[in-house]
Amino acid sequence: MSTTARRRRAQVTSSRSRLDVKSLPEDARRHNRRLVLRHLFHEGPQSRADIARASGLTRVTVSDLVAGLEEDGLVVELGPRTIGSARPGKPAMLVGLADEQLRVLAIDLSPDDCFVGAVMTLHGQVQHRVELPLAGMGGDEALEQVLALIGSLADAVTVRVLGIGVGTPGIVTPEGKVREAPNLRWYELDLAARIRSRFDYPVHVANDANAAVLGVRTFESTHERSLMVVRIEHGVGAGLIVGGALVEGEQFAAGEIGHVVVSDEGLCACGRVGCLEVALAASQLKRRIGAGEDRDQVLSGAGTALGVALAPIISALNLNEVIVSGPAELVGGVLTDTARATVRANTMSAVSNGLVIRPSTDDINLVLLGATELVLSGELGVE
Ligand SMILES: [Zn+2]
Repeated sequence: MSTTARRRRAQVTSSRSRLDVKSLPEDARRHNRRLVLRHLFHEGPQSRADIARASGLTRVTVSDLVAGLEEDGLVVELGPRTIGSARPGKPAMLVGLADEQLRVLAIDLSPDDCFVGAVMTLHGQVQHRVELPLAGMGGDEALEQVLALIGSLADAVTVRVLGIGVGTPGIVTPEGKVREAPNLRWYELDLAARIRSRFDYPVHVANDANAAVLGVRTFESTHERSLMVVRIEHGVGAGLIVGGALVEGEQFAAGEIGHVVVSDEGLCACGRVGCLEVALAASQLKRRIGAGEDRDQVLSGAGTALGVALAPIISALNLNEVIVSGPAELVGGVLTDTARATVRANTMSAVSNGLVIRPSTDDINLVLLGATELVLSGELGVE
């Protein structure tokens, strides 16, 4: 590992294992507020003294920050500590995130036949779920369907909405503009702005695979890891976190692995022959199995193609974990097993020894969790 890489790794580790204080005065307060919120999210209710100890901030500063967060409705007092207060005297007053008073509207636009939305708690629990059919819609019609979905979720919420998070297929800028999402016939669509013009909430939009990998990082607490989520739906895409940071790429197209050529057969919609997407997309696999091809053979062929495509990526980045996300009946067994075996066969043991390749555990909600994380990190600094 180079010195820079080691230093970066040390920074990532230190920002995770203890709360550190940024010194720039102009944004110190905002930074410190986020430290407190992140600490409360990951550790649960704490006393002000606990927060001061963990952050290195003074008790006075913490009390001041907590007062501000209470005023903004993000933090609440929860009463005195009842368990584990062995010390004599008055038990400490606990403060925590205002979980009960805040909800996120999470939107998943990745399925090929519907749009899915949910009212989510800050901790990723689905409280109310709505699906609207897509029926081949594209362009403005699809956008109107997204707005209708958000409207029906907003109507169902009885507490404050912290924000709207959206995971969409396609290439998406950090500002929430969809550069291209061919399946939805969206080109240069400022999705975040269009949603904001209809709903008076903060809006955060990201590519569905990027949202998914962020969701895994936050809700499965895999902060130290370099990981990748490969999404196998009507297309194939990947979200990538290296050394704790999302990799978006210069054109925001990092992870677009679907049109990497892995074989010499099968014409792809993009015009090339033998794209990974031809061998692996869920729609293709379902079609072939439905047409009577041997199921295990189809899935093991798909797994081999995935393994061949992943081996150089995993070797270049020395990832620890690859999560294969898609319909459970397709990604659960033979496909992931074959991909794992292929990666092992095609890489050095130094690369593959510590590597986990597994199917996703909560696939149906993965992008919804990711969309929730977009709002948590955008609005509260929680990641
Ligand atoms: Zn292609």
